[in-house]
Amino acid sequence: MSILPHFLVIPFPILGHVNPLMQFSQVLANYGCKITFVHTEFNHNRSKTDGPRQENIKLVTLPDGLEPEDDRSDLKKIMSSMKRTMPNKLPKLIEDINALDGNNNKINCIIGTFHMGWALEVGHKLGIKGALLCPASATTLACAVCIPKLIEDEIVDSEGNPTKKQEIQISPNIPIIDTTNFPWHGLGKFLFEHIVQEIQTIINFGEWWICNTSYDLEPGVFSISQKFLPIGPLISNDNNKSSIWQEDTTCLDWLDKQPPQSVIYVSFGSLVVMDQNQFNELALGLDLLDKTFLWVVRPSNDNKVNYTYPNDFHGNKGKIVSWAPQRNILNHPSIACFISHCGWNSTIEGVHAGVPFLCWPFIADQFLNKSYICDVWKIGLELEKDDNGFISRHEIRKKVDQVLSDDDIKTKCLKMKKITINNIEEGGKSSHNLKKFISWANY
Ligand code: UDP
Repeated sequence: MSILPHFLVIPFPILGHVNPLMQFSQVLANYGCKITFVHTEFNHNRSKTDGPRQENIKLVTLPDGLEPEDDRSDLKKIMSSMKRTMPNKLPKLIEDINALDGNNNKINCIIGTFHMGWALEVGHKLGIKGALLCPASATTLACAVCIPKLIEDEIVDSEGNPTKKQEIQISPNIPIIDTTNFPWHGLGKFLFEHIVQEIQTIINFGEWWICNTSYDLEPGVFSISQKFLPIGPLISNDNNKSSIWQEDTTCLDWLDKQPPQSVIYVSFGSLVVMDQNQFNELALGLDLLDKTFLWVVRPSNDNKVNYTYPNDFHGNKGKIVSWAPQRNILNHPSIACFISHCGWNSTIEGVHAGVPFLCWPFIADQFLNKSYICDVWKIGLELEKDDNGFISRHEIRKKVDQVLSDDDIKTKCLKMKKITINNIEEGGKSSHNLKKFISWANY
């Protein structure tokens, strides 16, 4: 029997990258591939879970070059430190891993997420193939690929700022994007320049750009590059084994006791920080609902914000948890709709579960994802801000009622769910691409 490929996978150390790469690893491992998963030492030490169950996934670590007390939410700091420290250490790690089983199942391919292009470059120098796993949508990646053209056409300047507010379409059949909502908008000069460099690196060293999406979800985007390889949605059943943070699973028992389609699930992912006034208004909005809610209020990662609840908040109609087993929750029959920041992972998870969305985008690609949800797939509504940029409790109440009574949205959710699941089943296009990728890695 031929030996299946051995992948070294290395995510940028934030949850929105670690999770999809772990899910992808689990899918590859289910096919019998061998996986060496590289965590930073810091993430490994803070991880509250005991890791994946599959025997063919091994966890290893590399230092990120920062001290334990350093602020890892400072992207400039962590990126610079990782780039200084890790490329020198990776070749030795690869040598040691290969030597472990007498060089009989050497690493065939390195898979990195965005910001980890340096790892593909290191692999290239060692004669190892490279692929990118894009943790965002294919459209977000395509926007970044188009940056040189956008600069040439004077749509954005050399620092990524729009030359004027306008709506453009980077390719036919892709949602129209307001130039002030480009995924990099507001990230600053350092990160924009980093993105431009990173794109060049993945063009040079990433033979495939694996995307957690499908041809049906983003049909207009794949003509932009032959490197796109949609393999999604990435779904593994090992929900609580891949997360960095400990999940509060008591909410699943609580959900079991709720009537079907009666609970509003509210979660803003791992990074979004809401200001205290908006937080208060959301709390009071949830109090106003006729429905129960399950609300994830993440403790601050970095002490930048510590929410307090408003004095007049009752909260008796719901449950609040600090971190939830989101994929299990979205697939629970008691869930009626998902108030989401529209991070790509949450978006895909919601589509796969067939749950209607109320969209509340904050930053980066979340606006683009919202356009897919509301305008292209038509499986949700947007929560609209007032003139002060504030979402009121009445808007929350109004839109919850509206989305739950909209039969078109419900029908579309079920249709998108079916299409999405078909892609990963035997004979589906995503499943076909996955097999193509595994055989490519082997030769
Ligand atoms: N997530 C989770 N529990 C929570 C909230 C979020 O497991 O309580 C997971 C969610 O399932 C998703 C990820 O965290 O896989 C968030 O990724 P996303 O791209 O949606 O947002 P980001 O955190 O990158 O802003």
